Amino acid sequence: MKIICIGRNYADHAKEMNSELPSEPIFFFKPDLAILRGNKLYIPDFTKEMHYEVELVVKINRVGKHIDEKFAHKYYNEIGLGIDFTARDIQQECKAKGLPWEKAKAFENSAVLSKEFLKKEDLDLNNIEFSMLLNDNVVQYGTNADMIFNFDKIIAYISQFVTLKIGDLIYTGTPAGVGPVKIGDKLSGFIGKDNMFKIEIR
Ligand code: MG
Repeated sequence: MKIICIGRNYADHAKEMNSELPSEPIFFFKPDLAILRGNKLYIPDFTKEMHYEVELVVKINRVGKHIDEKFAHKYYNEIGLGIDFTARDIQQECKAKGLPWEKAKAFENSAVLSKEFLKKEDLDLNNIEFSMLLNDNVVQYGTNADMIFNFDKIIAYISQFVTLKIGDLIYTGTPAGVGPVKIGDKLSGFIGKDNMFKIEIR
């Protein structure tokens, strides 16, 4: 199983990062070990600025390579919610030096993932609203309607470069509102009114 993450897929987030809008999807990987087990996340020693990024997660259910965009919807049935945790200070260093982001993105426990996934047919696929609360305040809200590259475009694009396999997860990008966490913070993520995960920062 691999975890593929899309960067800068919402214009409002690209803007808050002072980044240009991409002309094609930007992707990077996290290892399977990145998935947080349990609900307590310890901030790693190497970062002074760990940011949350709440994202819709597509679970791949068929093997595919060079998938045509018009058939891409056949490659997933379920949508979950996750957090792409990012060592923002390290990422800024990597960006400044033109280096890959893995040091800032691929560390263990950097991928929060909901236990439950929602079936495609139970969702309005054109407008999946999601949000995240930090200590009871809404800090991020988004809908896939605002994505620069929708699920099908992302799947078609990635599958030109790597074969997608059953169980692969695609984190589809974060809307605006990302920010740092500190010890004691509690984060809970929602698709619509459904609580998808709750975690605590240690
Ligand atoms: Mg992200």
